[in-house]
Amino acid sequence: MFPADFDYVVPRSVDEAVAMLVHYGDDAKVLAGGQSLIPMMKLRIASPRVLIDVNGIAELAGLRRDGDRLVLGALCRHADVAASPLVREHLPLMHDAAQLTADVQVRNRGTVAGSLAHADPAGDWPAALLALDTHVTVAGPDGTRTVPLAAFLVDAYTTQLGANELITQVAVGIPPGRTGGAYAKFERRAGDFAVASAGVQVTLDEAGRCAAVAISCGAVAPSPFRARAAEAMLAGQALSEDLLAQAEHAVRDEASPFADTRGSVEYKRHLAGVLVRRACVAALARARGERVDTLHL
Ligand SMILES: Cc1cc2nc3c(=O)[nH]c(=O)nc-3n(C[C@H](O)[C@H](O)[C@H](O)COP(=O)(O)OP(=O)(O)OC[C@H]3O[C@@H](n4cnc5c(N)ncnc54)[C@H](O)[C@@H]3O)c2cc1C
Repeated sequence: MFPADFDYVVPRSVDEAVAMLVHYGDDAKVLAGGQSLIPMMKLRIASPRVLIDVNGIAELAGLRRDGDRLVLGALCRHADVAASPLVREHLPLMHDAAQLTADVQVRNRGTVAGSLAHADPAGDWPAALLALDTHVTVAGPDGTRTVPLAAFLVDAYTTQLGANELITQVAVGIPPGRTGGAYAKFERRAGDFAVASAGVQVTLDEAGRCAAVAISCGAVAPSPFRARAAEAMLAGQALSEDLLAQAEHAVRDEASPFADTRGSVEYKRHLAGVLVRRACVAALARARGERVDTLHL
């Protein structure tokens, strides 16, 4: 399939990109890695009249530490996250998610910000980053604003982003000591979207109890969600086998998947519970300082 005809413009700064978005309005789409947009254009699901290619905006590249936050520029690729020692040390959940997203070619082009803007319910970044303290900064004609990821993601393929706004960065809080995180994903074949996925971030207190816990699930509801009932079960507790089994069951009830070629409703509910449990075990081990490899299932 070939896309419909389009014009192609290349801004050199965020201000220029925003001015172009304002000028072209709904007729334009931002092009980042192109790993979701170009396939959609080829299938004619999207037919923007103008592509605004932001890849030449140097200030949007890369990732860096800024105090107690990890800041990903809007052009930070999945591969940049996977290769970052900073991420591996402080936010292993993100390291897992980066490694489990798509294949090498897609990881080298696709961006974290693009994944959030696309808001695929089975996407890895929306689910993974929901378990972390994540904020999205967008620039528009009235300046910039920063919103928590949970508010940014509105529904399947729907975000708060206005037609004339550009994501400029994604910031993730660097957690305190005795914190561990993990992201687990089940896919039909390597490089595919998730049948189900789960992110877990745990902070332990001095007694080894769960001082804070965040659990997110992907691909098992119209959009990724925090498993609040399971979180409430684990908060303040020592994470025993029994408790994790209860949390697993709670997650199955909180999930609301639909049946498709990737599996039935019951199968996906089951997977969601299993993945949360496995991610909990890995996150707990990491919080204790143990080494756990990415959960390739
Ligand atoms: C073969 C294949 C396998 C894949 N497997 C997976 C997978 O396993 N897991 C997964 O999560 N994803 C997967 N993807 C999708 C991939 O991760 C994309 O990189 C990602 O979804 C979108 O990022 P992008 O930079 O490519 O965005 P683009 O395709 O360039 O853009 C996607 C959308 O976001 C908008 N956008 C992008 N950047 C910005 C910005 N800075 N501000 C405002 N709007 C913006 C665009 O206008 C467009 O609407 C796969 C893709 C392919 C082709």
